[in-house]
Amino acid sequence: MRIVDLRATTVTVPLEAPLRHSNGEHWGRFVRTIVEVETDEGIVGLGEMGGGGESAELAFAGLKQYLLGHDPFELEALRFKICNPTASLYNNRTQLLAAIEFACLDIIGQKLGISVAELLGGRLRDEVRFASYLFFRYPNQETGHGEVRTVDQLVKHALDLRAKYGFRTHKLKAGVFPPDYEIEAYRALAAACPGDSFRIDPNAAWSVEQSIRVAKAIEDINNDYLEDPTWGLNGMRRVRENTTIPLATNTVVVNFEQLAANVLHPAVDVILLDTTFWGGIRPCLKAAGVCETFQLGVAVHSSGELGIQLATMLHLGAVLPNMSFAIDAHYHHLVDDVIAGGKMQYQDGKIKVPQGSGLGVKLDYEKLRQYRELYKELGGYPYDRDSRRPGWYPLLPNERWADPEVFE
Ligand code: MG
Repeated sequence: MRIVDLRATTVTVPLEAPLRHSNGEHWGRFVRTIVEVETDEGIVGLGEMGGGGESAELAFAGLKQYLLGHDPFELEALRFKICNPTASLYNNRTQLLAAIEFACLDIIGQKLGISVAELLGGRLRDEVRFASYLFFRYPNQETGHGEVRTVDQLVKHALDLRAKYGFRTHKLKAGVFPPDYEIEAYRALAAACPGDSFRIDPNAAWSVEQSIRVAKAIEDINNDYLEDPTWGLNGMRRVRENTTIPLATNTVVVNFEQLAANVLHPAVDVILLDTTFWGGIRPCLKAAGVCETFQLGVAVHSSGELGIQLATMLHLGAVLPNMSFAIDAHYHHLVDDVIAGGKMQYQDGKIKVPQGSGLGVKLDYEKLRQYRELYKELGGYPYDRDSRRPGWYPLLPNERWADPEVFE
């Protein structure tokens, strides 16, 4: 089988409300590039990539010359063809490789009549447990609804999501407001949802000392882990030496070099695997094997996803023996999707792993057209800027917090 075409389509799908984070904001929408890899047998595989609010269409167009004629079964050859570690010093294609790997696994699964989970060792579970991913949010610009700024708004938002989707684990995206305010917010969440588990993630915005101070203030809560409180393996190691809460990361262990460094000189307890950051589903599985050997915890990270990438996370979640925690997804913040049948559904905080061959999801071409038009209308957005605070950018560690009293 040979690849004969590669198509990339950038879409914009609206969010319920703009999501705030330590580096800026998702400006009320996700921009994603949908990839279709077509073979000489007529099988089409699907991939998806983010890109910080920008289109990746041109990057995929540049890959076409490398991929035409390639056999989609040759996944290791694919890695060295487009993502050789020394050539990549000039042109990092890790996330492009990931999107192509998704599509090739989708093709292989369709060809063999089995799902990606079956292809990767067989499913250990038929559904995957998710955390509620709680963000501070600006109100929806059209409706004025959806703001999450005050502690009361955050608690209500969490309780609404808990009732609607069945989440029993809650993640607070922090690093927006002063740390003491976020401690108060996190403690209020924990008090409102007794028996549930919690995690807080300021995207490394705090100093080492600030991180230790926050850790001490939340140690009595039922924490899954403290996620990327500070920047760098050495910073994380200093925090870890000063708290009983396990530390997790999706930022400082995102490749095998860093994983090896963390095994040799531990800084992080739980590795949050991202099917895009690691270059595909298979590298995540390899990394999970290393974690199993060294008894590190594993969960699945969300870098913002539509249904194709969500399917990769579900298939990964289905086959990981050592997945110790509920996984993250931004998915519930989306108002729609580009996959046939509409958004996947949560039940009791879980989503079923697709059963069909390959990734088990297909495109709804009418939705693809609709959201491609929306992208053309609105364009990209700077993920690492805040639409309501012109000229602002954060330091690391940060000190330029937003003011929770200010309705922006
Ligand atoms: Mg994180």
